Amino acid sequence: MSTTSAAPQEPLPTVENAVPAADPHPAAAEEAGAARRSGRCKKLEAQLRGEVGRAIADYRMIEDGDRVMVCLSGGKDSYTLLDMLMSLARRAPVRFELVAVNLDQKQPGFPADVLPAYLERLGVEYRIVTEDTYSIVKRVIGDGKTMCGLCSRLRRGILYRVADEIGATKIALGHHRDDIVETLFLNMFHGGRLKAMPPKLVSDDGRHVIIRPLAYCAEKDIARYARGRQFPIIPCNLCGSQENLQRAKIKAMLRQWEREDPGRTDRLFRALQNVTPSHLADRTLFDFASLTATRAPAGAEADI
Ligand code: SF4
Repeated sequence: MSTTSAAPQEPLPTVENAVPAADPHPAAAEEAGAARRSGRCKKLEAQLRGEVGRAIADYRMIEDGDRVMVCLSGGKDSYTLLDMLMSLARRAPVRFELVAVNLDQKQPGFPADVLPAYLERLGVEYRIVTEDTYSIVKRVIGDGKTMCGLCSRLRRGILYRVADEIGATKIALGHHRDDIVETLFLNMFHGGRLKAMPPKLVSDDGRHVIIRPLAYCAEKDIARYARGRQFPIIPCNLCGSQENLQRAKIKAMLRQWEREDPGRTDRLFRALQNVTPSHLADRTLFDFASLTATRAPAGAEADI
């Protein structure tokens, strides 16, 4: 009689214990992964380009012959903005020029060579402007206080001047849908005003038209796109300033709302495009004082 000792049984693979088999062609798998990632990036690019194209058309942001100054800070939003506008400039039926402008504010540690190298590679016309606003802001604002307000005002003044120098007809900024909705809540919560950040506006002195072509784009899509494209991001806190605390709180509030009720930020943005002044309370927008009934009260006709 022959006996066979039972070999220890291999557990049957289950969903829980399954381990991926070693890939005999790791390079091919990596290539396939890269192709999938690049496919996703292309899809996202097409989506963002569509949103930018729609915003430009809806608000007539760019017209034939425009020379658009694209403000490039080195953050994800402005890289995406430049990318989208370059892509549209190649495809759009209207002809417009782009000039990328970066302001080197002399923050300590600002990598001054990153943007010129990137822009050279792109082959886009560009200008790097160097102005030491950092020292001014540091001198004026006390330690530990948020410097972003003064810093942005100084930056805006310089950018307007540069727009004149280069003959720009439009100034494009990288604010997106979430920036616009956050600004709405900042103004409501802290200023008692129903006011956001418009997709297109004229500067206070009436000399410049500012456009925000990313107005329809969600920040999370821009962030994903920027990661996929591996833009050489330069952080905007080299100066050590804290992000505006109130804005950060509102951002967190909106993120929480979005988790609980997906699509809410988008609906809030759409609300800005769909305003009914007669159902608000601003007497300068709607003539409440002159409101009268358009029909005689019931029974009045019988009395006549
Ligand atoms: S983080 Fe620094 S560079 Fe950016 S806006 Fe604020 S003060 Fe200016």
